Amino acid sequence: MAKRSTKEKLARYASKRDFTKTSEPAPVETRKKRKALEYVIQKHDASRLHYDLRLEVDGVMKSWAVPKGPSLDPAIKRLAVEVEDHPMEYNRFEGTIPEGEYGGGTVMIWDKGTWRYTGDAEDPAAALKQGTLEFTLSGKRLKGGWVLVRTRKVGRSQQWLLIKRDDKYADADHDVTEQFMTSVVSRKSMPQIGRK
Ligand code: MN
Repeated sequence: MAKRSTKEKLARYASKRDFTKTSEPAPVETRKKRKALEYVIQKHDASRLHYDLRLEVDGVMKSWAVPKGPSLDPAIKRLAVEVEDHPMEYNRFEGTIPEGEYGGGTVMIWDKGTWRYTGDAEDPAAALKQGTLEFTLSGKRLKGGWVLVRTRKVGRSQQWLLIKRDDKYADADHDVTEQFMTSVVSRKSMPQIGRK
């Protein structure tokens, strides 16, 4: 369905009113369409199994490879290695990258949803530059507050730590990567996705 502008949506409201006479608000175009930002985690059985965390920033997916995957325990800091930005279309990719190709192996959409920036820096890009990205996830599996903190560079790899904030979604008793073994989209397991 085509997106209607705010003014189009409010045409009926406006047609009933003369705004030179009433002090009710006239419709204005909301330039800041605070569209929810996309979030995805893809489980990737490449040369080493890892979880790719991707957050939409300025039209691309900022990406981190998290070897052990996310933990809901705020006391646990998970290594997250910064990797190249991915296109937003990648968020819908599930399947198998041929062996011998870059990232060869099975990719599962392990979680998806939206995210919201909650930090003090002006915007996510500024926060990333400063090295601390605070955010809230509204995924099917992961929810609540998280933070990514930049640490050191090992060779050409910029390392970060992914940490769960202590909120009602924190859970020190369950390993969320053990709890959820299937795709949030197809419901398939890794072997089922890998099968031709
Ligand atoms: Mn990967």
